[in-house]
Amino acid sequence: MRTIGLLGGMSWESTAEYYRVVNETVRQRLGGHHSAPVLIDSVDFAWVAQRQASGAWDELAEMLAGRARRLQDAGAELVLLGTNTMHLVAAAVQEAIDVPFLHIGDATAAAAHAAGAGTVGLLGTRFTMEQPFLVDHLSERGIDALVPGAADREVVHAVIYDELVRGLVREESRAAYRAVIGRLVERGAEAVVLGCTEIELLVGPDDSPVPVLPTTRLHAEAAVDAALA
Ligand code: GLU
Repeated sequence: MRTIGLLGGMSWESTAEYYRVVNETVRQRLGGHHSAPVLIDSVDFAWVAQRQASGAWDELAEMLAGRARRLQDAGAELVLLGTNTMHLVAAAVQEAIDVPFLHIGDATAAAAHAAGAGTVGLLGTRFTMEQPFLVDHLSERGIDALVPGAADREVVHAVIYDELVRGLVREESRAAYRAVIGRLVERGAEAVVLGCTEIELLVGPDDSPVPVLPTTRLHAEAAVDAALA
């Protein structure tokens, strides 16, 4: 089994989930006492969030590229970036390493195809919903992504930064997300991408009339597939 390198801490609430899912998946696949060889490099999210807010993407790219290289030097045989938003600088991370980089959008597109969904709704941070990096990545793989309207994007983004990355899961926010999902489905979404790695801590299949595509779980499972290939 190859060693998985995970760039985490964005936020650690979802990194904990990655760690749980990769280990549960290895246990399911191999049984016995098997667990996943993982190297996790977990950052201080405040440093990241400040630079996201001020648009210092080059500085973030340099930091993540350096840390990806460090994971490779430490023995990682494939690398995951455990956040949708920071895939805005995925190219810089990928270029910094020689081992495979598993893009979160590849796992998401594969799951959309498996669900038979050519049109998906996309929930995420405002960076993910409003900048083209993930929408384009999906579109290049034959998946059209619909993003919520402006007022809904505000709510979805605020719940992530004010609550989920701080470990707060509130019933009111779950209801608000359900309503946003309902409006995406009315517009034609055949599945909904939980395109921020904390969202699956708040909503799941029971909150949506169409399949949900939980990016943390999908990305973590793809890592195990690659580690066992
Ligand atoms: N984990 C989130 C995501 O998947 C948001 C935190 C971040 O900005 O990295 O986009």
